[in-house]
Order: sequence, then C-alpha cells, then structure tokens
Amino acid sequence: MSNLFDLSYPTVAIAGSQDRFPVRRIYCVGRNYASHVREMGHDPDRDLPFFFMKPPDAIVESEGSVAYPPQTANLHHEMELVAAIGRQGAGISADEANGYIWGYGVGIDLTRRDLQEEAKNQGRPWDAGKGFDQSAPISALHPAAEIGHPSTGRIWLEVNGEIRQDSDIDKLIWSIPEIIAHLSGLFTLEPGDLIYTGTPAGVGPVVAGDRLSGGVDGVDTLIIDIV
Ligand code: MN
Repeated sequence: MSNLFDLSYPTVAIAGSQDRFPVRRIYCVGRNYASHVREMGHDPDRDLPFFFMKPPDAIVESEGSVAYPPQTANLHHEMELVAAIGRQGAGISADEANGYIWGYGVGIDLTRRDLQEEAKNQGRPWDAGKGFDQSAPISALHPAAEIGHPSTGRIWLEVNGEIRQDSDIDKLIWSIPEIIAHLSGLFTLEPGDLIYTGTPAGVGPVVAGDRLSGGVDGVDTLIIDIV
C-alpha cells in the first residue's frame, strides 16, 4: 500500500534515457479503425472521433504483469499506437498538431468487454469497462525528434505467439493530427498527456497465463503477462 505522503505521478520509461515521462492524463480514442468498428457492429463512416479516459496509475510497463481483473469474464486486448504530448495547447489545428507531440509508444487498451457492453446497453459511463486498475500497458516512449511522426507501419498483437491483430496504422480513420485537433477542442492538452489512438480488428479475450506481445513497426514492442 502506498503512503498518502509518498504519492507521486506514474511515469513511463523513455527509450535510451535515464529520464522518465510523467503521465498526467490518459485519453483514448474509440472506434478508429474501420475493421474494428465493423466487428463491434457499428458503421465506420458515420462517427466523429470520441474519447474516454483511463486513470494515469493504470499504466503497466512492458515486461510487467497484469492481474486478471475482478468482475469480468471477458477481458479483451486492444493494441494501439500511443502519442505522448509535450506542450500545452487548446484549439490546436491538425496542421500544427505534430508540434505538440513529444513522442510515441505502443500500448494495450485492456477492456472488460462485458462491463463495457452492459454500460453501452444501459447508457451508463464506460469507466468500469475501460478505466480499471492496470488497464493501460505501455512500451517505452520514443521522442519524435528521433523516430519522426509515424503514419504507416504494421500494428500487430500476438497471444501466446499466435497472431490476433494485424493491420497498419495507415488505416486509422482519424489521423493523430486530426485526433489532436478534436481532443484539444474539448480539453486543454498538457505535457504528460498520453493518447491511445484506437485499435484495429481482431480484439478478443485473454485469460490468466496468457502472454501478450505486440507493437507498431518503427515505434516499439510490448510484452505483458496476464497472471
Ligand atoms: Mn481502444
């Protein structure tokens, strides 16, 4: 148990550095690959991007483990490209959005799908389905100054070595600059904000004992054990 007076920001490793990236907020984009929108039973042409949040202390770093969470029988993986914000901004245009991005990593938007579906059906918030403890595994972060701003690259996830998700980030419905334009119209973005940018088709259940590995080519990879 943490002591009240020892509380501190969750942080994420920065590749090739002793410094760590402090996590202020975790924003997530829903339904941002057409293939996944269809597998969830929706029309990919119709929706503007929408957002939900996870608490910063939901972060789990690569090669860590996630305890199978309570109150679910359908824990799903969602492999995602993650953008890390390095500069304050609101009302940012898509054209200037890259200037606010500090860097990139890859993450898994773990989802208690049964609780999310129940929330959808009852018109209730998604927090219990999406924002639970250890629901945000993430790789080390890489500065855009080193890897650029990725707009193509395979995005993939394996469970126990078997491929489950396999797509390309060029299939994002809303590009990362467009996501930042929409998101910064709703919230002032600040250094330390992470944006999980959505998942392609192939989401599915995992159980205790599974090893999840995945990544985005040109960014990084991530390994997580469900225990
Ligand atoms: Mn997601």
